[in-house]
Amino acid sequence: MPYLIILILSLSFISPAYAHDWHATQGDIIEVDLTSNTQIHKLTCMGKEWPFKKDNNGTIHGWIGVDLKQKEGNYPIQWVGVNAITTDHLSINKGKFRISRITVDKKMSSFDAAAIKRIHADQQAIKKTYAMNVDIFPLFTKASIPVEGIESTPFGAQRYVNGQAKSPHSGIDIAAPKGTAIKAPLAGKVLLVEDMFLNGTLIAIGHGQGLVTLYAHLSKTYVHMGDNVQAGQIIAEVGSTGRSTGAHLHWGVRFNHARINPRSLLSLSSKK
Ligand SMILES: [Zn+2]
Repeated sequence: MPYLIILILSLSFISPAYAHDWHATQGDIIEVDLTSNTQIHKLTCMGKEWPFKKDNNGTIHGWIGVDLKQKEGNYPIQWVGVNAITTDHLSINKGKFRISRITVDKKMSSFDAAAIKRIHADQQAIKKTYAMNVDIFPLFTKASIPVEGIESTPFGAQRYVNGQAKSPHSGIDIAAPKGTAIKAPLAGKVLLVEDMFLNGTLIAIGHGQGLVTLYAHLSKTYVHMGDNVQAGQIIAEVGSTGRSTGAHLHWGVRFNHARINPRSLLSLSSKK
C-alpha cells in the first residue's frame, strides 16, 4: 500500500508545474498570469491572439475574453516564447442567462426592407470599430461603472418573440433618469458617434488592444469622433432614443470581437 501512495505522489509531480488551470464563464474577461524568464511574444487562446504585459516584478499578465456563446469546455492557453510554448488550460462554464418569452403583434416584430437595410448598415458601422487600432493599454487600471442605476436587463438575456429566438442581450441595461451623466469607464478614443435605427444615438469608445465599449439610446453627446477621453470624463447623457421603452443606458463591451459582460470588466483587479 505505501508503494501505491508513493506512485500516486510521484505521478502528480510529473505534470508540469507551470500549467495553470483557469476558469471562466461565458461572457467573462479574465486575467491570466505567467511567471517565466522566457521572452513571451504571443498569447493565444480559442484561435485568437490576446494582449499581455510584463509588470515590474517580472510577472506577465494576459487578458482573454470569452464570447457569450463560446462553447463550454476546455481550451489551451498558449504562451508562445522564442524557444518554448507554455500551455495553460482554460475551462469555460455555461453562463446562467435569463430567458424571456413575449408575444407581440406581427407588425411589431418585423421591419420593412428600408429598416432592415439601415439596421444592417448600423451593425456594420459598429463592427468596424472592433478592429480599429487605438494605441493605449488601459487594462492595468480599474474600470468604473459609466452610470449608477438599476440593472433592468442583464447580460446574456435571451428573448423569444412569438417563439422565435432573437439575438441574446449583448450588454447590460441600466435604468436611470433622462439626462443622467454617463462617464467613460476607462481612458480611450471615441471611434463612433452616430444616430442609429435600433440603438438610437450611439457612442463607441476604443480602449486599445481590441477593447471597445458601446453606449446606446443616448439623449445627448459631449464628444466627437477622434476625441481622446479620460477615465471618468462625461461623454453623454442617458436617454431613450432608438427602439427603447424608457430612459436607460445600454452598455456593451467587446474584447477582440467577443461579447463581454460589462460586470466582468468592472471586477477585473488593478495590477501594476
Ligand atoms: Zn440593452
